[in-house]
Amino acid sequence: MTIEPVLTALDLTSDQLSGGDLSVTSPIDGREIAQVHQTPASEMGAVLDRAEAAFHAWRTVPAPRRGELVRLLGEELRAAKDELGAVVTLEAGKITSEGLGEVQEMIDICDFAVGLSRQLYGLTIASERPGHRMMETWHPLGPTAVITAFNFPVAVWSWNAALALVCGNPVIWKPSEKSPLTAMATMAIFNRALARFGDAPEGLAQLVIGGADLGDALVSSPRVPLVSATGSTRMGRIVGPKVAERFGRSILELGGNNAMIVAPSADLDMALRAIVFSAVGTAGQRCTSLRRLIVHESLREGLVANLARAYASLPIGDPRAEGTLVGPLIDKEALARMQAALEQARAEGGTVHGGEVVEGVAGGAYVRPAIVEMPAQSDIVRAETFAPILYVISYDRLDQAIALQNGVPQGLSSCIFTRDLREAETFLSAAGSDCGISNVNIGPSGAEIGGAFGGEKETGGGRESGSDAWKAYMRRATNTINYSDALPLAQGVRFDI
Ligand code: NAD
Repeated sequence: MTIEPVLTALDLTSDQLSGGDLSVTSPIDGREIAQVHQTPASEMGAVLDRAEAAFHAWRTVPAPRRGELVRLLGEELRAAKDELGAVVTLEAGKITSEGLGEVQEMIDICDFAVGLSRQLYGLTIASERPGHRMMETWHPLGPTAVITAFNFPVAVWSWNAALALVCGNPVIWKPSEKSPLTAMATMAIFNRALARFGDAPEGLAQLVIGGADLGDALVSSPRVPLVSATGSTRMGRIVGPKVAERFGRSILELGGNNAMIVAPSADLDMALRAIVFSAVGTAGQRCTSLRRLIVHESLREGLVANLARAYASLPIGDPRAEGTLVGPLIDKEALARMQAALEQARAEGGTVHGGEVVEGVAGGAYVRPAIVEMPAQSDIVRAETFAPILYVISYDRLDQAIALQNGVPQGLSSCIFTRDLREAETFLSAAGSDCGISNVNIGPSGAEIGGAFGGEKETGGGRESGSDAWKAYMRRATNTINYSDALPLAQGVRFDI
């Protein structure tokens, strides 16, 4: 598939794709594919004005009607799935099925949010006073900034935007400077939904293109009550305190260092397949990628040998080619960081299998995923390297395995492979995994949108997507209604005048 017709099919014009000062390259071959126009910093005031005006109109539109816009977005995404998936592959280097899977995730969250638009309800609460009733109401919060990372260039926007829009909030999107094309294509698709919807206010969903300074304009503005930021822990350390300082609300979705425990009773065939998918899928560039394998010492040797065999036969190369399972890293810097991590792992006593640079498409950063046997959970194992490196550590007792699983600064995703009910339940219990996502007999990556997504500790504590994550996008009001002819005070307080 050549990309020009795809971009045209997504309503992107050559003016939008050339003459700008932000060079967009494809990780497939490192070549420049567009020069897009960045949003001038001086524009940000007008962006916020439009968002506020949109908020004042949108917050009073009935929520099910707001849901109709998201329903139409889901329809437009279905119609443009192949084209948008192809742009994800071109700009983020994902293999074709993962590019399409990312768009499917957008469609799924739209479906979820449409249903949600009729379920934004609060509680009715018993009042201690006669003739009184208490209840909670949920109201739109205001302009919502969505700052996204390169590795899920479209799905993360949709997780936030679909919920924010049905909750009554306009959205301002600052995508990664490495993936503005996918963002532009998504906005073009959104505009098709808007045109069919008819009477949405201008500025309901805006896109600003640029780097960290543009993100900072949103993070620092008291006119943005909610900032949802996805990216590195380094970014979260800056963004979190800045939003907190102005008493804003943030949803932080930061780095992960995800583990799998393989227990003696595990179905090893299933475990092997889950390990390979979650450790090398998306070339190890998912926040939920498997990075640490904590394997019972009785299984270690055999499992590592089987994994090394599976890794040696992985098809690595052009992500558009049929059969490829491992595409490129995002850029040469990512490759250099991977090689540096492997060097450090060797210095910390590790034995490295794989990890070599391989021929892919000239100009791209292609690498064979690495398995690294470690004598202990050393410094490099405790850090997130955004590349396909799987550290293997062994354990003797389950409590040691859980301590290793929890013994890192990050807390995103985790899992155990076991057929022992006691082990599985212990892992899921209060004394088990400390992560936001804990699975049994499933790898740590590839979450469904129905559950709340996010993690603890340095992963930031935010939750997006399903379950009751919508509550972060709304403000809660507690209402007490007196339908009696008396004015009793709570707690029996007397104040007679
Ligand atoms: P990054 O932190 O370099 O950039 C992410 C976004 O933050 C970009 O849009 C960037 O422009 C913006 N940004 C950076 N500094 C900023 C600042 N000071 N103020 C405002 N905005 C700022 O991350 P990346 O390399 O694009 O993505 C990879 C990282 O993202 C990994 O650590 C990965 O684990 C994480 N990630 C986490 C999740 C999750 O849900 N937990 C999902 C995807 C990616």
